[in-house]
Amino acid sequence: MTSPKPINPDPCTDHACDGCARCRRGRCCRKDDPGRRLPELGDWSGPIYGQLGVLETDDRHVRCHACGAWFEALGGHIRRAHQLLADEYKAMFGLNAGTGLVSPAVRQRQQEIAREVFGAFWSTDTARFRTPEQRSASSRQPRRLQARIDPSNRQAWSERSRRRYAAGLWRPPGFSPEAARKGAARMRELMQNPSYRAAFVAKNRAAHVTIQQSEPDPKR
Ligand SMILES: [Zn+2]
Repeated sequence: MTSPKPINPDPCTDHACDGCARCRRGRCCRKDDPGRRLPELGDWSGPIYGQLGVLETDDRHVRCHACGAWFEALGGHIRRAHQLLADEYKAMFGLNAGTGLVSPAVRQRQQEIAREVFGAFWSTDTARFRTPEQRSASSRQPRRLQARIDPSNRQAWSERSRRRYAAGLWRPPGFSPEAARKGAARMRELMQNPSYRAAFVAKNRAAHVTIQQSEPDPKR
């Protein structure tokens, strides 16, 4: 019999550990860290293989953006080789949160298994199972690059815009005249307060200096 691996009692040093299997193995799962932030698009210090927002696949393989190697599935590889979790990888390389990091062949196999096991319980109306909060939270998230460059999404969005324009619902981008009036009135009110005014002036001055510093000198 093999002895179990030594357990690190506290891999999570700066937050409360959820005691999940991964943390118990001595490497924080990162999902129990309340201060955890997903990386931003392109936050990868090394070379990037393939295109951001596109998961490169052939029939049986999927390509890792971080090292260019091909695998049947990326989950295990990115954890071991690049210390990345799937959600971090997807955020960094612009993939949709719902994109599976697997080859088309693996995906098909997974779908067949899921259909066999759960098919009888599936409803066609999955939106019903989400709370209004979940629906509005997901709709306010900025779209991932993969979703933004997807031709079928682009077509759907342009058709929607056309329909809204035809129905007279289109508005030019920016604030409505009413909102602008309200904003200006509120600003006048706030500026009556001397400490607000001082902070406002200081902030504007700092922003102005930053802009001047970052603009190249045209005389040079
Ligand atoms: Zn890799």
